[in-house]
Amino acid sequence: MEKTEVVGSEGVVQDMARRRCAGRNASGKRCGRSSQPNGWCWMCDPNITDEQRKAARSKGGVQAAKQAALLAAMKAGAADIEVDLSTPLACRRLLEALAKAVLIGAVHPQRSNALVAIANAASKANEVQVMLDLQAELERERSR
Ligand SMILES: [Zn+2]
Repeated sequence: MEKTEVVGSEGVVQDMARRRCAGRNASGKRCGRSSQPNGWCWMCDPNITDEQRKAARSKGGVQAAKQAALLAAMKAGAADIEVDLSTPLACRRLLEALAKAVLIGAVHPQRSNALVAIANAASKANEVQVMLDLQAELERERSR
């Protein structure tokens, strides 16, 4: 890990304007990371201890590992997942499952957007089918 040191307050003010971290690494090079509102990036912030960084990193690592395992399991099972978009109820069930998956972090919101677009298109197609069925039924009634 790069060791950083504190620079003067003038440097902090300058860096705040550019939203760049005020920290410098051991060789004196600028940190280059984006700063928090206090002018420091999370790695250089003198108010955060190494223990806090370590704890947060391992917590983040555990979360990332859990998410990766869940994603791998979902990808492995994806071929077995039945996707039914043939009825309004089926579309709603897919959207409910999707909402749960987004909430637990198993589906990236960007991917969720694609699935919502697919569900919307399927709903539209279902709507058109209902209209066509109604029209056909009316025409049958009239020809009697
Ligand atoms: Zn920094």
